[in-house]
Amino acid sequence: MTDYTRLYIDGRWVEGHGPELPSIDPYTNAEWLRHVEASPEDVSSAVAAAEAAAGAWARTPGVERGRLMDRLADAILDDLDLLAELETHDSGKALRENRAQIAFAARNYHFHAGNADKLTGEYKPLDNPDTVDFTTREPVGVTALITACNSPISQLANKLAPALAAGNTAVVKPSEHASASTLEFARIVDDLGFPPGVVNVVVGGAEAGAALTSDPRLGLVSFTGGIPTAKRIAQSAGRNLVPCVFELGGKSAHIIFEDADLERALVGAIAGVFAAGGQTCIAGSRLLVHRSVYETVLDELRRRTEAIVMGDPLEASTDLGPLAHRAQRDSVLRRIEEAHEDGARLLTGGPYEGDLPGLFVRPTIFYDVDPASRLAQNEVFGPVLAVIPFDSDEEAVQIANGTRLGLASGMWTQDITRAHRVAQQLVAGTVWINTYRASAAQAPFGGFKESGYGRERGTDALLEYTRAKNTMIDLSRSARDPFRLAT
Ligand code: NAD
Repeated sequence: MTDYTRLYIDGRWVEGHGPELPSIDPYTNAEWLRHVEASPEDVSSAVAAAEAAAGAWARTPGVERGRLMDRLADAILDDLDLLAELETHDSGKALRENRAQIAFAARNYHFHAGNADKLTGEYKPLDNPDTVDFTTREPVGVTALITACNSPISQLANKLAPALAAGNTAVVKPSEHASASTLEFARIVDDLGFPPGVVNVVVGGAEAGAALTSDPRLGLVSFTGGIPTAKRIAQSAGRNLVPCVFELGGKSAHIIFEDADLERALVGAIAGVFAAGGQTCIAGSRLLVHRSVYETVLDELRRRTEAIVMGDPLEASTDLGPLAHRAQRDSVLRRIEEAHEDGARLLTGGPYEGDLPGLFVRPTIFYDVDPASRLAQNEVFGPVLAVIPFDSDEEAVQIANGTRLGLASGMWTQDITRAHRVAQQLVAGTVWINTYRASAAQAPFGGFKESGYGRERGTDALLEYTRAKNTMIDLSRSARDPFRLAT
């Protein structure tokens, strides 16, 4: 039985010395679990454990690390229902979405398990044939892995799978709003017999996070969360010149051209913004629609959005659960007020005034939204869509690129030439064509501009968790001129 009041450090379940941390289920609006936060000293012990374990783990043959990771992936699938239920209690996200995301997390561990014995360097042919030169990829050491409140297990897999495959150890800190599934994950790690200190889990919010990211023993911080937090982390890690990978927010443009298959585009647009109650970084929260199909799209958006079922996220019939926590719900309501103030026109939705107990906001759509307005520029992280008309491909691209964010983008068109041209012009880390929110273990993911830097998933992610070492061997037996630099 997992004791959710504990921390997992150096292969042991230990008491935290920080304050108690009640966890509120956003559907019932009541406390459902109570954790204890890690104090800065607890965080320091976790880093010390990860540092002590780093050498032996890095020297463990990749094939063995890969075998353990394969078993980890299988164990996640065995406990899929439990992990998904814990996340639904913590985040309010529909159970069936959590199940799918956690299954994808397992896929990521399987993918990187296969990479653990395939990390190769390069042979470099030099000018001097008597010299051999090659690179090797070495682990960075202790990694700090910090996740956001919306999908802890799947975000952790994006980080921990490449980190372990590359031979690193980790201190994991989930969001203070969603810690239960990560503690359960630590129980799985423990059951599988990972060496003590390879994976450590500490619980807490800004204080524990700041203690972790300012630790000079780290080799890398990998963070998923909001831009203001990332800027604080960049400063604290930067003081020790510790590099960071940042997966941050988005204001992704989802474009419907006049030649789109409208049925598919509408399904994609609605799922693109309302899945997970809009609490995903990749929410297609700006829908750009060609004026020739604008009225049709608006009519259909309203009809389909009003059919979305809100309710208990544990029920299979529920499409949309509550927002993850009270501050998030209040922030979404403020964004809705701002949209009204800035002159956007409400198509459907708004604050929820029904009988459901939780922190709900109705799926909300504004149209004729000014691309420069606050609703079109700022991430909402909730179920709110801004619809913007356009007249030409050039205008669509200009609007799409007209924010300081650049996480993802999508388009619906049957014209392959247009699709390819527009894809090249979009300033975003991901472009989806005739699909949206699709992910693959092999495909790298990450942001441009203020949406972050570094990549998760695929072999690109693996390289983030390594550093290149160059080795040069002089094969000649004669003494060389010590002042001659080039080989
Ligand atoms: P948040 O920034 O409030 O918190 C994220 C994490 O940072 C939490 O674990 C939190 O405890 C920790 N933290 C807070 N202060 C800290 C500090 N000073 N030092 C270190 N850690 C600290 O974000 P959130 O509300 O949990 O998540 C929402 C944000 O995450 C949105 O902006 C969303 O777009 C983004 N997000 C991005 C991705 C992606 O992959 N690009 C995925 C999901 C969510």
